[in-house]
Amino acid sequence: MTAYDPDNIFAKILRREIPSHTVFEDETALAFMDIMPVVDGHCLVIPKVAARNIFDVEPEDLAALVKTAQRVSKAACRAFQADGHTLRLHSETSGGQEVFHIHFHVLPMKTGVPLRPRVMGDHAILARHAAMIHEAL
Ligand code: 5GP
Repeated sequence: MTAYDPDNIFAKILRREIPSHTVFEDETALAFMDIMPVVDGHCLVIPKVAARNIFDVEPEDLAALVKTAQRVSKAACRAFQADGHTLRLHSETSGGQEVFHIHFHVLPMKTGVPLRPRVMGDHAILARHAAMIHEAL
């Protein structure tokens, strides 16, 4: 498998080399808004360890990431009054992965509200949504 690239976009977000709308951070993980949200509240949860995807992440790091993803998911669903939820993890290009630092997509879902096409989000709205999820944590 291809080696982890420390210059991928999410590694740069972790190092604060490029900005993001932070939802949550602790010593193991960072959660921030997806820049092209397919649903209101679409955020990403990434570990601070360098791992490309499901194939190279250490099991204990994956377990810690799932724990954070659960916490952020519950908060996102509370914040957006979602009655359902989707958690996505893509691995490698054929699996839909575009950024090669392991991450979960957190998608608060509402009955009758389909996913939108991917378009660049409005930064003011992303900032507001990040604050809403943060407050619900
Ligand atoms: P993947 O297909 O790798 O699972 O998903 C990568 C996600 O990262 C996509 O949903 C995309 O919108 C998001 N993304 C790509 N570049 C950036 C960025 O610079 N900032 C943020 N916040 N999200 C990004």
